[in-house]
Amino acid sequence: MSSFYERYDNERVVCKLCQHYCKIKLNREGLCGINRNVGDKIDCLAYGYPSVVAIDPIEKKPLYHFLPNSKAFSIGTVGCNFRCPFCQNWRISQTANIDRGRYFSPEEIVKLAVEHRSDTIAFTYNEPTIFYPYARDIAIEAKRFGIKSIFVTNGYESKEVVVDMPNIIDGANIDLKSFNAEYYRRELGADLNRVLETIKLFKEVGIWIEITTLIVPTKNDSDRELREIAKFIVDELGRDVPWHISAFSPNYKQKSLPRTSLESLERAYRIGREAGLYYIYIGNINFKNTTECPVCSKDLIKRGVFSVTEYNLNRGRCFNCGYRLDGVFI
Ligand code: SF4
Repeated sequence: MSSFYERYDNERVVCKLCQHYCKIKLNREGLCGINRNVGDKIDCLAYGYPSVVAIDPIEKKPLYHFLPNSKAFSIGTVGCNFRCPFCQNWRISQTANIDRGRYFSPEEIVKLAVEHRSDTIAFTYNEPTIFYPYARDIAIEAKRFGIKSIFVTNGYESKEVVVDMPNIIDGANIDLKSFNAEYYRRELGADLNRVLETIKLFKEVGIWIEITTLIVPTKNDSDRELREIAKFIVDELGRDVPWHISAFSPNYKQKSLPRTSLESLERAYRIGREAGLYYIYIGNINFKNTTECPVCSKDLIKRGVFSVTEYNLNRGRCFNCGYRLDGVFI
């Protein structure tokens, strides 16, 4: 295992869990608020203390090409390394107050997942990179029971974390929130190029990825920007990587913006198609997405809202032409 911290100088230890690489003084926490320099190492304060535990359909993450119709035992902690003004989960992500009422060891989490007949464990709700030591131990334990693990992430993992993931984390939905470096820096508190490099690294190390873009009116919904995002996916990741385009709803610090219209989502869909993407899905709005075979156009997976209503794959292959659908299937 790589270590996820390193002494920086006499005073500081650098945390290597995410691309911020915070240099943290003794008894202080990094930007996420949950990783502390305790002397010669960084302690993940949220280890063992999930703030949310729930069972969701995997379609809700959203992952559409990863064990469709399966149950994801989902957990998150508190804290985040981003400052998105539209965060849907800001009550847990933008606080560092850890509820220490009950400690859940990795073994206990996996036992609960097994009891609930979950097929995967999803690290989600807040940014899982910042509690990777906990997620990692849970994911390794889960493997003993044949349970896969997935990340729902903003794509700001450190290189050290991503290269550690193969055989531990099996899939990820990664946000690509914009293609504007200034927007990333000013509004989200992050660096676009580092996100792009991290997404490419996920692909390189062989983790199944799907990309999500929340379409925020006036912020990232110009034709030009949507084209840039779609082109990046096609050129750098491949046209077989699914792109989820999700509707924004007014929340947290962005209550004055309107909800994303269906027209905007359909425009983004067309742009993605023109760029050459095989799989584009519209989310956060009542829309029934179907996966078509990219070769013969037959309907392979039909969905309701967060559910599968028709499944026409045979061992992961198109029932009609035999094309192996891109993703992770039984
Ligand atoms: S996880 Fe990221 S934000 Fe948190 S302390 Fe480590 S480097 Fe900083």
